Amino acid sequence: MTAEVINGKDLAQELRMNMKEEVTKLKQKGIHPHLTVVLIGDNPASKSYVKGKEKAAAEVGISSSLIELPASTSEEELLNLIHKLNDDITVNGILVQLPLPKHISEQKVIDTINPDKDVDGFHPINVGKMMLGEDTFLPCTPYGIITMLKSRSIDIEGKHAVIIGRSNIVGKPVGQLLLNENATVTYCHSRTTNLKEYTSKADILIVAIGRPNVITADDIKEGAVVIDVGINRLETGKLTGDVDFDSAVEKASYITPVPKGVGPMTIAMLLENTIKAAKGLENR
Ligand code: NDP
Repeated sequence: MTAEVINGKDLAQELRMNMKEEVTKLKQKGIHPHLTVVLIGDNPASKSYVKGKEKAAAEVGISSSLIELPASTSEEELLNLIHKLNDDITVNGILVQLPLPKHISEQKVIDTINPDKDVDGFHPINVGKMMLGEDTFLPCTPYGIITMLKSRSIDIEGKHAVIIGRSNIVGKPVGQLLLNENATVTYCHSRTTNLKEYTSKADILIVAIGRPNVITADDIKEGAVVIDVGINRLETGKLTGDVDFDSAVEKASYITPVPKGVGPMTIAMLLENTIKAAKGLENR
């Protein structure tokens, strides 16, 4: 079997076209979605992610502003800034680019963002609502993954979904969203013994480890849906996922590539969340 490759770049572009129309309509009602991104320090990967987010926002008509602060910024200064952004009615979405310098508590920063402006979906209130299956901002990467599965009408209900990785931003929430869609979910992580025993039984395999080519065709079930979240830069400079694409593509039914897979979808969902935040204003 050769898998259908789900191209996240194309799907994200399609979504952005629809979002552009929605933003135009919102503007006609006097609502101008605005995203504020806070970037601390000069981590090159963070800078490049932020650039991608600003560019995508502009493409759909969402205005954005970037607040760049030095790595020496204190936790108090950052929290004060977030309070100001919370109070600023022209700001619909607040995104603080992670990771933060070690002297700043990421959790404290996330907890300080107004949950109604938490377009990353990381605030405990939004995480709790997601667990309860309530309408809320979903974390962008898991939201992007579910959107990719739905774009191909892939059956989730009753399927065995195996998630490798249990981070708060990818592994845990994607498992929760799949559970909300009635999958049977198994979580694996670095302490899991005999990983293959689980991966080889997965109908849907989500791999979010952060190590190149850990999962090969040998680890997956014939016809499995394989979603590769990992982004790894090899010494050659080439970007690669956590899955050995060339072997897995011959055994899976659907697979996502790296690049042009989950990454562009993550950004598209951030824009969806920003529009959702702005739309919240319609009802006030
Ligand atoms: P974390 O480092 O926070 O989590 C990695 C997870 O993988 C942990 O739960 C860890 O287990 C587990 N793990 C590590 N090694 C193994 C192993 N050998 N076998 C099984 N499990 C293992 O990473 P993130 O979740 O933030 O990100 C994962 C990857 O996804 C990274 O490459 C990141 O760059 C990428 N990413 C991509 C995004 C996108 O938009 N495409 C967005 C966000 C992340 P334990 O908990 O026991 O330590």
